[in-house]
Amino acid sequence: MQADWAVELHGVHRRYGRGRTAVHALRGIDLTLAPRSFTAVMGPSGSGKSTFLQCAAGLDRPTSGTVRLAGTEITGMKENKLTALRRTRLGFVFQAFNLLPSLTVEQNVALPTRLAGHRPDRRRTADVLAQVGLTDKARRRPGHLSGGQQQRVAIARALVTRPDVVFADEPTGALDTTTAAEILGLLRRAVDEQGATVVMVTHDPTAAAWADRVLFLADGELVDHLDHPTPDRIAACMTTLTARRAHVPAAA
Ligand code: ADP
Repeated sequence: MQADWAVELHGVHRRYGRGRTAVHALRGIDLTLAPRSFTAVMGPSGSGKSTFLQCAAGLDRPTSGTVRLAGTEITGMKENKLTALRRTRLGFVFQAFNLLPSLTVEQNVALPTRLAGHRPDRRRTADVLAQVGLTDKARRRPGHLSGGQQQRVAIARALVTRPDVVFADEPTGALDTTTAAEILGLLRRAVDEQGATVVMVTHDPTAAAWADRVLFLADGELVDHLDHPTPDRIAACMTTLTARRAHVPAAA
């Protein structure tokens, strides 16, 4: 049975430290993201984007509140169970690609399956490599590929287990504009054609415009959203947010 929501956060707070020096990185996040949706998360530097992604993906634990992924509550889950869930039911794409240099492209793609203790399915590996246009690079090592090609490998690796959610952290941050558009096109197709669910943190309005919806964070709170976003409307929202923030007294 498919869960109603791919991602659910209820009253999620994340505080770093205690007392007067405590930093409230997330101040009560409530959201639900539908399966087969592509969501971008934006906000000024320090607004809580990374903390949000880490908490939503089970890489960090909220101070309070609950996180559910495809109907499974991960809050309070034991670390080994959470690790297994991340390997089998989540996919990750990072700015720095994070491929293992000593493994070939196809071995990198098969790695999540191996780490989960299963024998890699060669056909599935070949399918996802074809999906990202890298069939002819299967036996290469990442060091022989361009940045854009390495990120394609990372997307194939993220999709290989047919995860409930793919979390992407600035996936185009290290790429030129043309290559970035190719990578975002692949994520978009994964949602539209393969039924993937993607949550992407980015600071780039052009990248965020590939999403169905953009969520805006400011000072640890969700303060706005845009459906059917365009780069111009996103940039305007960001300008408003940054200006609003500049007017908040430092001691508030
Ligand atoms: P963003 O990704 O939007 O730049 P972050 O989630 O990295 O924001 O940070 C949100 C707030 O939490 C910032 O004030 C940041 O300094 C603080 N923060 C993040 N990680 C830590 C940490 N490990 N220890 C203390 N403060 C942190």
